[in-house]
Formats: sequence, C-alpha cells, structure tokens
Amino acid sequence: MKDIKKKPVILYVDDEPENLTNFKFAFRKHYTVLLADSAKKGAEILAKEPVQVVLSDQRMPETTGVEFLESLASKYPHIIRIIITAYADIDAVIGAINRGKVYRYVKKPWDMEELKQTLDKALETYALQQENKRLVEELKEANENLEEKVRQRTRTIEEQKQALEEQSLMLQKYAKQQEQFLADTSHEIRTPMNAILGFTKLLLKGELTDKQKQYIQNIETSAENLLVIVNDILDLSQIEHGKLNIERIPFDLKDSIQKAFNTMTEKASQKAIDFQIHLDDKLPKVVMGDPVRLNQIIINLLGNALKFTEKGKVELIVKRCKSKEETPDLSAILLQIKDTGIGISKEKQDRIFDKFTQSDADIFRRFGGSGLGLAITKKLVNLLKGAISVDSEIGKGTTFSLMFQFEEVDKLRLLKRQSKAKEVSHEELRGLHVLVVDDNQLNKVMAVEMLKSLNLPMKIETAHNGSHAIELIGEKNYDIVLMDLRMPDISGMEATKFIRQELPEPFKSVPIIACTANASKSEEKKCLEMGMNDYLSKPFMPEQLFEKISTLIHRRVAA
Ligand code: ADP
Repeated sequence: MKDIKKKPVILYVDDEPENLTNFKFAFRKHYTVLLADSAKKGAEILAKEPVQVVLSDQRMPETTGVEFLESLASKYPHIIRIIITAYADIDAVIGAINRGKVYRYVKKPWDMEELKQTLDKALETYALQQENKRLVEELKEANENLEEKVRQRTRTIEEQKQALEEQSLMLQKYAKQQEQFLADTSHEIRTPMNAILGFTKLLLKGELTDKQKQYIQNIETSAENLLVIVNDILDLSQIEHGKLNIERIPFDLKDSIQKAFNTMTEKASQKAIDFQIHLDDKLPKVVMGDPVRLNQIIINLLGNALKFTEKGKVELIVKRCKSKEETPDLSAILLQIKDTGIGISKEKQDRIFDKFTQSDADIFRRFGGSGLGLAITKKLVNLLKGAISVDSEIGKGTTFSLMFQFEEVDKLRLLKRQSKAKEVSHEELRGLHVLVVDDNQLNKVMAVEMLKSLNLPMKIETAHNGSHAIELIGEKNYDIVLMDLRMPDISGMEATKFIRQELPEPFKSVPIIACTANASKSEEKKCLEMGMNDYLSKPFMPEQLFEKISTLIHRRVAA
C-alpha cells in the first residue's frame, strides 16, 4: 500500500502468465505494477486501486483487450488506456484509437526501453489531465463565486435604486407641500397686510395732527417693509420652483428705467442723499423684454444703495456699450448703481448673492433686512439672460454693474399695445355701478373706502360670498365686479365660471377683476382662463385700482 502511494500505479492485463511475470519484472522498479490474467480480474482491481495507466493484451479468450479498454472509458475516463497487440489485430486497435477510447498501441513483442517511454508519456498525460481538471474546477468555483457576487451586487444596487426613488418621491412631495405652504402662508399674511396698508393710506388722506401723521407714516413704512420681506420670500420660492414667468413685451426702456428711479426719489430726499440718474442718448427706444422684472432689479439695487449710504451720492447710470454680440437689432446695455456708502469687504463680496446672507452680523443689527434681496436680484438677472457683478471698497462705496442684451423693435409695436390700454378720464368713470365681493369684512370695507377715495360718484355694493355675488349679478347690470378669489362656499373662480356659463346677457359679460393675495403668474393665468378680465394683487394701491378699472371701462366703451 505504501508503494502504491509513492509510485505511479500501472495495471497490466494479459492471459499469458509468462507475459505478466516479464512485465512485472521489467517495471516494478519504476512503478507499482498490478497484474490481472483476465478482463474480469482487471475490472476488480480497478474498482479498488487508484490506477493511472492500464495496459491490456488484445488477444484474450473471453474479452478482447479493445473491448475491455472500451468498457472502461465511461467509468474511468481519466485512466490512460494502452493496448498491446500483434499486427493481425491492428484494424480493431486503430478503430478504438480513432474512437478516442484507447490512448496508444504497443506492438508485440515490446521493447522495454520503448515501452518505458510510452508509459512515462502516458503518466505525464495523466498528470496533465488531472491538473487541467483541477484548474477547470477552480475556474468553475471562481465563476460561481463571481456570479454570486454579481447577483449580490445587483441586488444591492436594486435596493439602493428603490430607496433613491422613494426618497425622490418624498422630496417631490415635500417640495409640493412646501410650495403649497408658502402660497397659503403668503395669502394669510398678505390679506391682513392688505387691510393694514389700505387703511393706513386712507387714514393719511384724512385730517391728522402732525404727531398722528408721523405715527401713521411709521406704521406705513413698517408694513411696507414687512410686505417686501413676504414678497421676497414668495418671489424666491417661485423662482426656485420655476414658477416665475418672464414676459417678452415691447416697452420704452428709458421711460421704464426713469419710472423705477422716480419711485426711490422720496427715500433719497428723506436721507438728504444726492440722487442722480444718467441716461445715455444712444440708448435704444423701444425694446423687447420684461419691464416689471427689470424695474424690480433696479429698485432692489437702488434700495440697497440708499439703505447703506448715510451721506454722499447714489447714481443710476445707463449706457449703451460695445459688445461682441451686438447686432443691428441687439443692443448691449450697461446699468450701474453707484453709491458712496459703507462698502462691502472683498471676502464678503463673493457671498452677498447667496440667500439669507448679509455681509456682517453688525449690518443686520443696524439695517435689518432678510438677506434675500440680492439673491432674488441675481436670479432675476439670470432669468433675463443678463450678468451682474459688484465692485466695492469698505468706507468708500459700492458699484453694482449689470449687462443686458435687448432686442430693439419698432416704436409702432409699443404704440399698438398702449392704445389698447389707453386710460379713460375720471369723467368717463362717473356714475359707475361697482360690486365688491369679499368674505373678509375688513378687506371689503377697505376696497369700498379705496373706491371712495378715487373721489368719483360711484354706486358701490358689496357681496359677502360667491353665491351672494351670483345672486346680485344675475339681477343688476354692474359696470365692474371686484372679486376676491378665496372664499368659503363658492370661490371667486367658481362664481366667475357660473356667471360666464349660466347667466343670460348682459349679466354674463360683466367685467370682473380678480383680487387676490396669492400673487403668482400661474394664478393670474388661471383667472384669465376662467373668464375674468383682469387681475389685481393685494395689497393694491388706489392708483392701481383706478388704472385697472379705467382700462376695462375704456375697452368696453371702445367695443
Ligand atoms: P438685505 O435684505 O439684508 O439687505 P440683500 O441680499 O439685499 O439683503 O443684501 C445682502 C447684504 O449685502 C446686505 O446685508 C449688505 O450687507 C450687503 N449690501 C448689499 N448692497 C449693499 C450696498 N449697496 N452697500 C453696502 N452693502 C451692501
């Protein structure tokens, strides 16, 4: 047994005892030689011993060598099979070799040296086959591991993907909720602000002592500041949710900028600041763009300049400038807002356009503010496809520079647009029959007072909800309806839909102005789609109310 383990094991099958003895004698030194005198005995040995090579004589009484070796092929495919044969049987042997069942044949009588070489070669083949088998198995195992790993990895990726999808859905839901929350809150804040500002304005028109006037002006300023913050937050949220629509309409560039500047002159004179505007003669007249957003940007920057300047000068400079992109229709415009105020340190200049950023904690204590103005300004500038930069020195002042490209258009386009909205005189508004619809008592009173403050003899009636409004409009031929949007039972939108669809003429085409505290472009669009004629965002001023009413009446008269 010991030998079997060390030396290669070879089985020799032959029915001639002499041949067996000779074989053993010749090779026992090199191999462990096992002998069998018949195929049957050989099979028995193979079942027990780890044989590597089988040699069999071809001519045996019961089973031929080829038959015996072929019978081993399926059970012991790894064992190397060699046949020993005389010339007479060569055909059968070659057939077996061709069928792949026999490794080689050895001619009788065999030469010891030659046979030794054949056996060694066979053993080498055996070793190689075993090595191959081992490698294949290793490879198979590695492959299986790899497949398992890939499966695991795929599972993990799937799980991660699902988690991400869930997260993204949650974020979308959260963003929607946040948007709704902002819309609701801003409505809730604007409604009372509307009342505060409206009544303050009305109070200021009455008889007051100087002290009373001063106090009320203070209330007005604070309320206006508060409204700026609320509007800023709402604006920013709308910009960030891609809800802010940018208009492209023809407008008079110089005129529009001059108007924005004029709104700030009072603030400048209160602080005794030298407030100047320089408009280049070469500026284009009528351009395409969004005048409201452009003015919002200018007013924001002028507001900051005046806020952070105690003495000296604030200037608005507007020039046409040379630009590579300038074409006959496209003009490059440079706007600069220069002040001689407190300035902004170099390191803070990078951050002032981020939201909720103020250059200094001390600034907040001294000047207040939400840190949103410049963030909104920058986003608006981007939406208008412009660029903004700042240059500033502490204690010396700040310059904000803005670049825009405007398409210059024919003046006729503007005139056409304006003629549609031509104002009517106060005379034409005499004797108007107006219905104010609002569920909020304060707002209703305020709208009535504001209408009265226009000093026109009007007949004003009120309705306290949507169904009440429908009832009144179905009976009387009003000239104008001011319709609040958010009301309990029937909303302003629903009431308008009903009026437009269900009432007979002339009641169904009464001009309706939507009044809402939720000032968004999409809301405005919805109102117009619902059949309303115009839209007023609360809190509104008497002048705005007058303008809207007169435009509508004019349109009606023209029609
Ligand atoms: P806030 O509403 O707080 O003024 P802004 O976004 O408008 O917020 O401005 C951010 C900060 O940038 C301000 O708090 C101020 O520190 C600085 N800043 C803006 N404009 C000027 C200016 N013209 N001069 C000096 N500092 C300025």
